[in-house]
Amino acid sequence: APARLPQAEVPAPRSATPFTPPTGARSISCVIPCFNEAANLRHLLPLLEDILWATHMCWEIIVVDDGSTDDTAAVAEAWCELSGFRCISLSRNFGKEAALTAGLAAATGDAVVLLDGDLQHSPQLIHTMVAQWVAGAEVVYAVREERSDESRFKQIGSRLFYSLVNSSDRFAVPKDAGDFRLMDRKVVDALMSLPERSRFMKGLYAWVGFRAVALPYTPAPRAEGRSTFNVRRLVRLAIDGLTAFTTWPLRMVSVVGLLLALPAFGYGAFVAIDHLLFGNAVSGWTTIVVSLMFFIGIQMISTGIVGEYIARIYEEVKGRPLYVVREERGTGIETGKP
Ligand code: UDP
Ligand code: MG
Repeated sequence: APARLPQAEVPAPRSATPFTPPTGARSISCVIPCFNEAANLRHLLPLLEDILWATHMCWEIIVVDDGSTDDTAAVAEAWCELSGFRCISLSRNFGKEAALTAGLAAATGDAVVLLDGDLQHSPQLIHTMVAQWVAGAEVVYAVREERSDESRFKQIGSRLFYSLVNSSDRFAVPKDAGDFRLMDRKVVDALMSLPERSRFMKGLYAWVGFRAVALPYTPAPRAEGRSTFNVRRLVRLAIDGLTAFTTWPLRMVSVVGLLLALPAFGYGAFVAIDHLLFGNAVSGWTTIVVSLMFFIGIQMISTGIVGEYIARIYEEVKGRPLYVVREERGTGIETGKP
């Protein structure tokens, strides 16, 4: 694959009169998690390169190839011939959260921009993000203005999820904010210092805090390919988020148990007195079966909830790395100064 796309797309002056940033100029890393995004990367990388040049800062673009089975690695590696481009290939598909973490760990910039590789996150917004950062914001995150492009299920599900997960009154996971964001070095370091293995990034961003500015945007439709986040994965992600950021379900289990046990005691006492004092026969086979099924159901749900938390503990205790890097290529900010 050619290192550069059609010459016409490359603005002429950049190699002829290299821009030398003033010493102490700030630098930006751009991290793109990619799973089978070859077609999209071909469009995105030149676009992004232009936008980063226009910021007049040092920059690097880090493509994290998350075990793609298409040409993603080849496209990224071709671009790595140019300074400023880096590619981290993971040894298999580890998932977007792990890919983001790998990119964040590798990024060296004073600010890190995360964006999807499918052109849903308009790179033009980076201008505004950088401007806000220069003006003092530590986090600039894009908030989708509308979700009308999403299915009814996804809309209701996400509303439910945010109301469940935002149980802390100290910090809130902002609704409709995704991974498209710029973070100052301080924020990235704070994120990377969190030791947990199950990385629900949206929650972690909120947890670390810092001065954040929201930027409304409307995500573009996915350029090529299909989203890999199907219903099953989304539910998985939601459970990951809930177990990572709440403990109230555990407490709820005890409360529900208590609420159910109290009337049961009361009813038991009533039946006993009714029988002993008034000699009424204890009837109600149906009641017994129904209540038995009801209580067994509640018990199994409770065990399931507790199990989810235990599974999380198990994941953490194993202490496996979040991802495995097959190889890294390219030179970033250090030698890749414009
Ligand atoms: N992605 C990834 N690993 C995965 C799945 C997705 O790195 O296992 C990347 C994908 O290439 C894209 C971003 O995460 O750049 C968002 O994925 P997608 O467009 O499938 O999700 P959606 O936009 O529907 O949330
Ligand atoms: Mg997408």
